[in-house]
Amino acid sequence: MVLLLFGPPGCGKGTQARLITNWMKIPSISTGEMLRAELRAGTELGRMAQSIMAAGGLVGDDIVNQMLTARIQCPDCRNGFLLDGYPRTVEQAEFLDALLARLGLPPAIVLHLDVPEDALVGRMISRRQCPTCSRVYNLLHQPPKSPGICDDDGTALITRKDDREHVFRERLKTYDDVTRPVLAHYHDHTYHQIRGDRSPGYIFEAITSVLEKELSGESLVN
Ligand code: AMP
Repeated sequence: MVLLLFGPPGCGKGTQARLITNWMKIPSISTGEMLRAELRAGTELGRMAQSIMAAGGLVGDDIVNQMLTARIQCPDCRNGFLLDGYPRTVEQAEFLDALLARLGLPPAIVLHLDVPEDALVGRMISRRQCPTCSRVYNLLHQPPKSPGICDDDGTALITRKDDREHVFRERLKTYDDVTRPVLAHYHDHTYHQIRGDRSPGYIFEAITSVLEKELSGESLVN
């Protein structure tokens, strides 16, 4: 099963990706995380992406498509995988369709986490992330057990640089201008819209009920 978690920045994709992949035992692939890893490793690709990411823009399709092509052919993806933050342009969506077909994989099932824009900025301000394992916390709704420390590995939590308010607003604009139109590309696919303005547990329940139907082949395409 190829899952695609779609939604604006700050909609809870990272949190749901972690819950879904633990539940389904498939890897979560975040192109944003892959780019941040390149940045931390100081590679040429990381250096190139840095200024684009810091400004809230999108890294070039060719670069991201190439990274993704290699990643989904890794052995851990053989039973399926979840994409978080990809595709973000219509070109990437078209590339992904062709790539899945070429690899003999089923078309992606789209899970769209829909959150009203005014809720997103509030969420972003209280978002923290573990730089070691990438787990996402929210100081209001999902705080770590010990303040400022990752529950899983004890690392001090950070605020992502691109979560600063002016960059975040730019990321929202990029989403509206370039990424939201990708949804139209998926109207022929198996598409599920899920209300994302609720608690993570509630959203996860909605997602599992959709996926259980998909897994038992009872899905209605809506
Ligand atoms: P994310 O962690 O998904 O919010 O991504 C962080 C940043 O990485 C984005 O704001 C973009 O600059 C870049 N990025 C991540 N995924 C993509 C993608 N599929 N296409 C282009 N740029 C991306």
